[in-house]
Amino acid sequence: MANSTASILPGLLEAVQQTITDNAEAVAELDQAIGDGDHVSNLQRGLAAVMAHSDELGKLEWQAALQKIGMTVMSTIGGASGSLYGTFFIAMAKALQDQPLNRDTFPNVFSAAVEAMKLRGKADKGEKTMLDVLIPVAEFLNLESSRLLTFPDLLQQVGQIAVNSAEATRGMLATKGRASFLGERSRGHVDAGAKSSQLVISAIVSVLAQG
Ligand code: ADP
Ligand code: MG
Repeated sequence: MANSTASILPGLLEAVQQTITDNAEAVAELDQAIGDGDHVSNLQRGLAAVMAHSDELGKLEWQAALQKIGMTVMSTIGGASGSLYGTFFIAMAKALQDQPLNRDTFPNVFSAAVEAMKLRGKADKGEKTMLDVLIPVAEFLNLESSRLLTFPDLLQQVGQIAVNSAEATRGMLATKGRASFLGERSRGHVDAGAKSSQLVISAIVSVLAQG
């Protein structure tokens, strides 16, 4: 992540697409249980559209690449999650400006994106959404900005927090999105968006751990 250009992006995107493909059935089942079942196909549509620009994205500066990803997912995913993901990446681009994306800049940039998503979705921690994975990761990255951990340990912990946080949505009552229509019946299932966010984070962490 040290380069100012997004040269590692094509490899990251490929890993993300692979994990979503590998887990498509499991994520679809989660959204079928408490949503409308389209979450994985929404994600796959957005990822395919982003992947179509993969080579080009890898040559851009991070800010331009993040902005382009945001605009692409916003216009191709549609629905509630399209605007949430779009907002996330566009806010990352805005917060990054012309800085390189690296261990020093990432915590602030990621947190700004999470804050923007919270505003867009009028949601916060504990409402059984993807924010229940993204917020704990942002909190950890900010706490860790003192850099006490080695980079491999940092990655390992981020992955673990994502896994634990996704699982923790199982007991939550959904108060946002379609799952909220089910009230108490939304409990007992992991949120599909939390699970897909965990899969994306775990894939990114694995690629970075190899680099
Ligand atoms: P849709 O709800 O339009 O069918 P998806 O199925 O693609 O969209 O995405 C559903 C996911 O979006 C949920 O599992 C949840 O994680 C997330 N979500 C729904 N509403 C919100 C919100 N207000 N804020 C953040 N995330 C949300
Ligand atoms: Mg859905």
